[in-house]
Amino acid sequence: MINPVLKRALATWGEQAQMMMVVEEMSELTKEILKNVCRHKDNLDAIIEETADVEIMLAQLKENYRIADRVEAYKENKIKLIERRLNEWDEKAKV
Ligand SMILES: [Mg+2]
Repeated sequence: MINPVLKRALATWGEQAQMMMVVEEMSELTKEILKNVCRHKDNLDAIIEETADVEIMLAQLKENYRIADRVEAYKENKIKLIERRLNEWDEKAKV
């Protein structure tokens, strides 16, 4: 269930502006991750802020395309797949 404020943001500013904001916020998070991992910057506060921004925009993306339930189902399947891969990985490590 989307936060009503975020639903209002999508209704007020519209699909095009908000979907562009999704891209913009994802690129800001990308930049902070790269700074942290590649340039060893102490930027945890920025990572926290940009992660929150991305989550806020992804909520609007899911509302815009009405795909929240399908995303959730896909995530469940993906997590099961990851678990299978981890189990295989652990099995290989035992040999
Ligand atoms: Mg941001």
